Amino acid sequence: MSEPGEKKAPAVRKIFPPAVNTETERFWKAAEEGKLLYGYCLACNEPHYYPRSFCPFCFSERVEWRQASGDATVYAYSIMYRSPTGPYTIAYVELAEGPRILTNLVDCDFEKIAIDAAAKLVWKPSDGGAPVPFFTLA
Ligand SMILES: [Zn+2]
Repeated sequence: MSEPGEKKAPAVRKIFPPAVNTETERFWKAAEEGKLLYGYCLACNEPHYYPRSFCPFCFSERVEWRQASGDATVYAYSIMYRSPTGPYTIAYVELAEGPRILTNLVDCDFEKIAIDAAAKLVWKPSDGGAPVPFFTLA
């Protein structure tokens, strides 16, 4: 509970390290190099996120992993004002390559967030693991 006139502490949010397994290891290794990977199906030509060993649309195993440019637009968002660590924004962003990613919009003025606003990839260090992809306004 804050008292009137009390100075607010800066929002510090712990980012848990991603769980790495044999299926996700390649994704998180690329993340350590600052590369965001998504999946692309060679059978139905649909991009998807997260990348996986089969296409979530047609179940073909003819998929390849591609590097996203990091350019995106805001598809949907919600600002959570009441949180123990301060306000944050959860959002779906649509990559320039097509897939939509559930993420947080960080390091930006929440008042400037809008549907279709340009966004770009930023990496945040996790607590002892690979960096985690987030997005900010471009
Ligand atoms: Zn497919």
